[in-house]
Amino acid sequence: MNNAVRLENLNFDYGKDFSLSIKELSLNKGEMALISGGSGSGKSTLLWLIAGLLRAKSGSITVAGQRMDGASESAADRIRARHIGMVFQTHHLLPEFSAQDNVALALMAAGEPEKTHAARARELLNKLGIERVNVPVANLSVGQQQRVAVARAIVCKPAIVLADEPTASLDDVNASQAMDLIQQACREAGAALLCASHDRAMQSRFERVIQVDSFVRTERSQAHSGARA
Ligand code: ADP
Ligand code: MG
Repeated sequence: MNNAVRLENLNFDYGKDFSLSIKELSLNKGEMALISGGSGSGKSTLLWLIAGLLRAKSGSITVAGQRMDGASESAADRIRARHIGMVFQTHHLLPEFSAQDNVALALMAAGEPEKTHAARARELLNKLGIERVNVPVANLSVGQQQRVAVARAIVCKPAIVLADEPTASLDDVNASQAMDLIQQACREAGAALLCASHDRAMQSRFERVIQVDSFVRTERSQAHSGARA
């Protein structure tokens, strides 16, 4: 099983206004790909489908060899906790909790042995440049909070990290540093990376660029393909 994630014959829609249709899409273990497309093109929808947070109408989604489609909500939660790391535009950390506890919670959700949580969280945070692991994350800088969010995403050594516009709220210098950090952390954890961004400048960072528009079926695109046929 060489795929971190594999989608087959996937169909999803939000009523008649927007639909995605993917015949086949897979990422190898450790592969890094950018999902590119303008605002509203379906990038987040695709990531949420893979994470099991949205359900497709038909087709299969396999993450680290486990079927996400058809999984019960609790089974999907378990697959997500064990095999998927998520990074967002805003970090979604628990502000009152320390960096160490935010990261340890991910280990707890994944069912890792409890007595290893504190040390594993601390070690990874130190490696990512966070020394003050016991202060509430609300007291850390935005850049530090983002490092904590990256630590939380990779601490369980997921098969894949899903990053949704992870740099959209940062200036160019910080965005570049944040992407370096995410890509380096994924490389070291052996995780594949699927990163969604509307920023074309991101394309040069990735060995593979997936245009989400190619999966979108609008009345206009159907009319076009009809005209071509
Ligand atoms: P992106 O992340 O590329 O900006 P999204 O995946 O968020 O795009 O959205 C794709 C399309 O689906 C957009 O047209 C958006 O308006 C629509 N959409 C997103 N979420 C919902 C929803 N919960 N209900 C209906 N339509 C939605
Ligand atoms: Mg989005």
